[in-house]
Amino acid sequence: MARMTLSGIKKSFKSVDVLHGIDLQISDREFVVFVGPSGCGKSTLLRLIAGLDTISSGEFHLDDRRMNDVAPSRRGIAMVFQSYALYPHMDVYENMAFGARLMGLEKDEVEKRIDEASKMLRLDPLLKRKPRELSGGQRQRVAIGRALVRKPKVLLLDEPLSNLDAALRSDVRLEIARLHREIGGTTIYVTHDQVEAMTLADRIVVMNNGKVEQFGSPRELYERPANTFVATFIGSPR
Ligand code: ADP
Ligand code: MG
Repeated sequence: MARMTLSGIKKSFKSVDVLHGIDLQISDREFVVFVGPSGCGKSTLLRLIAGLDTISSGEFHLDDRRMNDVAPSRRGIAMVFQSYALYPHMDVYENMAFGARLMGLEKDEVEKRIDEASKMLRLDPLLKRKPRELSGGQRQRVAIGRALVRKPKVLLLDEPLSNLDAALRSDVRLEIARLHREIGGTTIYVTHDQVEAMTLADRIVVMNNGKVEQFGSPRELYERPANTFVATFIGSPR
C-alpha cells in the first residue's frame, strides 16, 4: 500500500516562501503527474516527499504513518532526478547496487534485484559499462533501475525525459508507463509538458506559484478547468 496524504505543506528557504500550503491525497497505485511552470515548486515538493529536504510546516503521511521526520532511506520512497546523477567511476551494476547496499540488503538479495530490474529495463547486456559508454536513454534507464532496486512503494520521477531527444523520449515514456503497471506501486511524475501529463496520468496536479490550482483526471481538467490558469496550461477551450 502507498496512500499518501499531504496536509498544509509549506516550505520556505530563509525568508522566501516557496510552497504555500499543499493539500493532496494520493491513492495507492495511482500515477499522478505534477505539472506547472518552471519555478512553481514541483521539485521542492518532490524533495520534501523523498526526505531530501525538511518540511517547514504541515503533515506528510504514508499509509497512516507520519513521515515528516523519517530518514530518506527508511521511507520506501525512491527518486529519479532530471540529471541522472550516476556515479561516473562505477559501472552500471555498481550504480544500481549502491543505494540497495545503503539500505543494508544482503549481497545475494542485491544481485537478485539487479538481475530483475536490469531485465525489466533491458540493461542486462550493459552491466559492465561505465556511464560515459551509454546513450542518454540508457543512462536514464540506469537511474530508474537504481531506484527500482530499492523496491520503493512510491517512485518519484523529476522530469525524467528532459535530457532525451524526441525519439528516445517516447520510448522511455512508454517504459515508465509499463513499469508503473508491473510494479504496482504509486508513481509521482513531474513534467512541464502537457502532452506527457495528459497521456500518462490517472490524475494531474496543476501547480502555480507554490500552490495547487487543481487536482483531477486529465478529462476533468480539460472539460472543467478550475480557472483560466489551468485552462491555458492544459490547453482546453475555455
Ligand atoms: P520547479 O521544479 O517547479 O521548477 P523548484 O521547486 O525547483 O521549481 O523551485 C521553486 C522555487 O524555490 C524557485 O524560486 C527556486 O529558486 C526556489 N528554491 C528551490 N530550492 C531552493 C534552495 N535550496 N534555496 C533557495 N531557493 C530555492
Ligand atoms: Mg524542477
